[in-house]
Amino acid sequence: MICPECKRWIPDGSVFCMFCGARVEEEPRKPQETPPQVGSAFVSAPDWAERFAADFPQHRWMILRLAAQGWSEQMLRSWLEKLK
Ligand SMILES: [Zn+2]
Repeated sequence: MICPECKRWIPDGSVFCMFCGARVEEEPRKPQETPPQVGSAFVSAPDWAERFAADFPQHRWMILRLAAQGWSEQMLRSWLEKLK
């Protein structure tokens, strides 16, 4: 799983992030349908992220968000592999 605060990998089932100490929700919540906010980092997602996300519609929002934060396509692919 990934820490919602620092975006680093932490063991599945963690209650707190080992890196930043943030409390991590263990229960998968309903997918957040929150639309991207104009003016956030979201808008700077690179072009490849949109194409990439098209293959993973269920993770589109997170893919674009992470890409906007500087994640590479390779990082996102390995991340999605771990989600399976
Ligand atoms: Zn963290």
